[in-house]
Amino acid sequence: MSAHDDGNRITFGRPMLDDAESALIQQVLSSGRLVHGSFTKDFEAAFAARVGVAHAVAVSSCTAGLHLALHAQGVGPGDTVIVPALTHVATGHAAEYCGARPVFCDIDPATGNIDPVKLPEAVARARQLGRLRAIMVVHFLGLPADMAAINEVAAAAGATVIEDCALAIDATYEGRKAGTLGLAGCFSFYPVKHITTIEGGMVTTDDADLAHSLRQLRAFGYDKALGERSKPGQYDIVALGYNYRMNEVEAAVGVAQLAKLDAFQEKRARNFAALTHALASVSGLATYPAAHGKSVSSHYCLNAMLTPECRLSRDEVVAALTSRGIETSLHYPGSLPLFSYYAKKYGHRVGEFPVAERVAANTISFPVGPHLDTDNMSRVGSALFDILAARTA
Ligand SMILES: *Cc1c(COP(=O)(O)O)cnc(C)c1O
Repeated sequence: MSAHDDGNRITFGRPMLDDAESALIQQVLSSGRLVHGSFTKDFEAAFAARVGVAHAVAVSSCTAGLHLALHAQGVGPGDTVIVPALTHVATGHAAEYCGARPVFCDIDPATGNIDPVKLPEAVARARQLGRLRAIMVVHFLGLPADMAAINEVAAAAGATVIEDCALAIDATYEGRKAGTLGLAGCFSFYPVKHITTIEGGMVTTDDADLAHSLRQLRAFGYDKALGERSKPGQYDIVALGYNYRMNEVEAAVGVAQLAKLDAFQEKRARNFAALTHALASVSGLATYPAAHGKSVSSHYCLNAMLTPECRLSRDEVVAALTSRGIETSLHYPGSLPLFSYYAKKYGHRVGEFPVAERVAANTISFPVGPHLDTDNMSRVGSALFDILAARTA
């Protein structure tokens, strides 16, 4: 058994690293150029081409990218930002970092995405509480949100749209890729996302001015990057920037990972289809679709909701799977407004965002990553069949 072998366990995610990454990391380490180098530029160029945008700005994480996408627009105290009630905490925190107030909007039970029907009411609330500046759209588990409806509401409200594309690389809406559907898109390269840079993120945009600001703000607010100075110390500090750069080791890993992405996506799609097929005969579970309306998923994972005929609790199903060596994940264990920080700060209460609360309480995310094959999917399917067969009405 090698160090990477999990034996019979089916893990939720596993970084797919081999000699390709090792060779490039070694190249960075021996070069002595650990930041401000060509790997970051190469990774940005390759990523921009993949998504089909004019600009891609590498940052230290998706969270940093979300923060900068708001900060670069001058979002600050007195402003409000709409955030889906079911998302990774980073989407809400990005608004908080700016001193703005996140105003939550409930989701569509069919997709987990922000519900355009409920958006006008959230806009009205956001305007009562401050100046509405942005709508954060999170493509839930990689399935793009209903962008036509959202962009229409945003335009009428004078708000920009920022996409949280952390799980949505290569996902499409009307044939266009996630990351091109709003003012800016923010991607994550955390270890269990579609590709990894260890930690890292990317902001995509077609707006040249925004890209310029993002480049300044990821590096302290210097007006000139290191390579643009004709003599040492030739710079001014023109903004409150951060140290949010991606380093060269991370970028080198990203270059190697991007070259493997087509193969990863093929396996994800195949695993997703196999697991959907395997679960079709399991009663007590309803799976989320890989496509809905004009949206096609990036196949991050397969999410399934326990239906009322299932007599086991979500936690019991998860525990039974764990005991059979099958690792699952929850997206997310609670709706964001009900976590202590937000509940205490803004007085959110149970029942305010009922769909987000129901999805958080009753869904399980199953792995479909490229570290797994269709035999693994069959095993997940039969395990669920056994666990649920005896316990459904
Ligand atoms: C992972 C994730 C983030 C955070 O990404 P980091 O790169 O870890 O900062 C944000 N939003 C969503 C939807 C995520 O899945």
